[in-house]
Amino acid sequence: MTHTNTMMNISTLPDRQKETSADQVQHVPENTNIRFGSYEGFLKACLDQGYRFCLFPEIDTSQAQIALRHDIDFDTAFALQSAKIESGLGIKSTYFFLLRSNFYNPFSPQDHENILMIRELGHQISIHFDPTVYEDFHQGLQLELALFGELFREEVSIISLHRPNAFFREFDAPIFNIEHTYQSKYFRDIKYFADSTGIWRFGHPFDSAEFKERRPLHILIHPVWWMLEGEQNLDKLRTFYDQKVESLKTDFSNNCIPFRSIHESL
Ligand SMILES: [Zn+2]
Repeated sequence: MTHTNTMMNISTLPDRQKETSADQVQHVPENTNIRFGSYEGFLKACLDQGYRFCLFPEIDTSQAQIALRHDIDFDTAFALQSAKIESGLGIKSTYFFLLRSNFYNPFSPQDHENILMIRELGHQISIHFDPTVYEDFHQGLQLELALFGELFREEVSIISLHRPNAFFREFDAPIFNIEHTYQSKYFRDIKYFADSTGIWRFGHPFDSAEFKERRPLHILIHPVWWMLEGEQNLDKLRTFYDQKVESLKTDFSNNCIPFRSIHESL
């Protein structure tokens, strides 16, 4: 299976996923922390509540707004899937991509194309920055800004940090004059929710007083937890792992003739 073939259109999702309405998702209290389901249903429930989606610099704390953020840790194809679902609902969000990842590569033709398509759908693209890669994170960010700017002709105004330690979570200033999503105005002054590790660690947004009162929200969604089938995060990871192995085998075969004789036996 190629990288491209791992992409699923919403129309190809199994009926069980398509039919999971936001209401159904909302009323499973015993599974609060693993409550996922249809991504489209999740977004529609936000729209039905009266929310509008905005980019980070557009946040107005007096409005019913959601700054929707995607940290892409694993796969640009899942990101493209969520981007299509969002644009189908007239929603814009911000996608942050790693430049130094073992899982994908914005310089590879397919990942590059996926990221360009996400921008063409009307979303903002930017850098998911891993400061631990660099001895001097200011210099590291300077390098990544230059690379990202060159690759995508995109001027970056805000980044998100990959797996930030306590130092960076408390780092309440722009880095190298670039804002980041852990600054208080985005992280503490408005309610923050995240589906990191496939679990709503801070509770499900729909259960919160802020959601009921239509106060502004910052929601971090990792598409990988929504675009794969499976009851729990480990089920999804098993499926994803199998897909990656198949994709790797295909890449080997496409680029190494001797490998083709062992492809099927592996
Ligand atoms: Zn990350």
